[in-house]
Amino acid sequence: MRSTVSVAEMCHHIETLIAPYIRQNPDEWGLQIIWLPRTRGARVISELGGAAFEIRLPRIRSSISYAIALHEIGHIRGKHQRSRDVRVRERWAWQWAWENALFWSPPMDRVGTASLCAVEIHRARLQALQDGRSLNRQPDRVGELRTVPIQ
Ligand SMILES: [Zn+2]
Repeated sequence: MRSTVSVAEMCHHIETLIAPYIRQNPDEWGLQIIWLPRTRGARVISELGGAAFEIRLPRIRSSISYAIALHEIGHIRGKHQRSRDVRVRERWAWQWAWENALFWSPPMDRVGTASLCAVEIHRARLQALQDGRSLNRQPDRVGELRTVPIQ
């Protein structure tokens, strides 16, 4: 892997990777692509059955947006994307990003790690909420909310 790649090269690389999956006209199969002004909101939108129909990618301005775009394409092209475990899907989408990148740098590594940590934290919170429900703690929480004093 090379260590110095221009933004134009990164942009071209992303366009090349996603091109075969993009719908060219309304009657054809393919993904709708939406370019985002920032990295926030990058994601793949899928139907309930699992088929992706829209991909939201950040405009490529740096190695960070490049890594995030690669990761989102990894949700289309990577392994284990039908897994029921979000952690498996996320990890393998990052794996695909790493395998297909023109280069990989420490900041790209950090964005990947931070993203996987966020997934773990989110999942742990959901799990705690589910455990709370199964312990029938929901009425307590409602009670707590009602006791919040009005300022
Ligand atoms: Zn992801």
